[in-house]
Amino acid sequence: MNTKKLSAGDIIEARCTRCRDILNHRIVAMVAEKVVRVECNTCGGVHNYYPPPSLKPVKTPGGSATTRKSTATPRAPKRDPQQSERDEWLSLRANMRLDRAIVYDMGGKFRADDLVDHPSFGLGVVKLIVPPSKMQVLFEDGIKLLRCK
Ligand SMILES: [Zn+2]
Repeated sequence: MNTKKLSAGDIIEARCTRCRDILNHRIVAMVAEKVVRVECNTCGGVHNYYPPPSLKPVKTPGGSATTRKSTATPRAPKRDPQQSERDEWLSLRANMRLDRAIVYDMGGKFRADDLVDHPSFGLGVVKLIVPPSKMQVLFEDGIKLLRCK
């Protein structure tokens, strides 16, 4: 909604009857708050003001022969098994201290809640140490089982 007050001499967008296009027009005459006559900046023609079609209910060219059904397919709230892990990762993401991230190394020693920087999975948080040599790490893609010391 354009709340800007217009006055004669202002430039507004209007439909030009001669150019058959939406062009800048200078307001020539106004009645109350309404623009009535405009001068086209392109062809110089003075004519009644026709608002750009977007302000009016748009008539579809070619009539109503093709009434398209709504393309909005109702998306079923599909929750894949990894979604909750992804959500958890996203919630943890805000508190991840990148300066504390430990570059992942198969021989590395990790503890629960450590931040791991993995070359292909990205940032992850150690969820669980699985003795003797594995750990569960929550990455953006979900939980992965990685080797560790
Ligand atoms: Zn014109």
